[in-house]
Parts: sequence; C-alpha cells; structure tokens
Amino acid sequence: MSETREPTVFERIAAGEIPARIVAETDRVIAFHDIAPQAPVHVVVTPRVGDHRDVVELAAADPALLVELVEVAQRVAGELADGDFRLVFNTGAGAGQTVFHVHAHVLAGGLEEGTLA
Ligand code: ADP
Repeated sequence: MSETREPTVFERIAAGEIPARIVAETDRVIAFHDIAPQAPVHVVVTPRVGDHRDVVELAAADPALLVELVEVAQRVAGELADGDFRLVFNTGAGAGQTVFHVHAHVLAGGLEEGTLA
C-alpha cells in the first residue's frame, strides 16, 4: 500500500466527499446502498478507517474491525429485510473486486435459492 495512492470511491464516501444513500454508521464502519443493486437489498459495508485493500488484509490487521463490519451487515439486513443475508467479499481483480478498499456486499430480500450471487 502506497502512502500516496488516491483515495478510493468508498474512502471518499466515508469522508463525505461523494454522496451516498447511507443506511448505517458507526465510528469505524459505514453502510450505504450500492448504486448498481444486484438484489432487492444490496448494501455496501466498509470501514471508514484504515486502508486495507481486501478482507484477507483486514482479518490479519484488525480482526475486531472485521467483526464490527459483520455486525453492521447483520443490523442492515434486519432493518431492510427479514434478517437473512449473503455477505460477499470479492477479493482480488480476478474475483471481480474493482474497489480496493475492503468492503462487503450485503445481499438480502427475496434472494433466489441455490445460487451464489
Ligand atoms: P464489483 O464492481 O465487481 O462488484 P467490488 O466488489 O469492488 O466489485 O464492488 C464495488 C461495488 O461498488 C459495486 O457493486 C458498485 O456498484 C459499487 N459502487 C461503485 N461506486 C459506488 C458509489 N459511488 N456508491 C455506491 N456504490 C458504488
């Protein structure tokens, strides 16, 4: 991680520089609606702090923050859907990750059975 890299879109949302439809916030985590929803409820949950590029880095560096992220995801799924949800961490460009600031996709509400996405 370079000290001089440009902030990602999610870091700019967390800093209030780019608008987003925020659904939950803690001191260290922010959750907002994805602009291109892939499910009836599709919310991005991401740390407002640190610059961990993916969930593997986050788990190694700050496991408590990963736990907090999961707790916010659960709360969002309970508030916007029936409480059941998928939590997806695309990890690496080959897996479809396009924003290299760790984030989880919370997918909920009328999901099809038997699919992974
Ligand atoms: P992918 O684009 O393949 O889903 P990621 O896992 O990196 O890759 O997820 C980035 C997600 O961020 C996408 O679902 C995209 O729609 C969403 N996104 C990008 N820009 C914004 C934005 N300004 N506000 C909300 N969501 C955004």
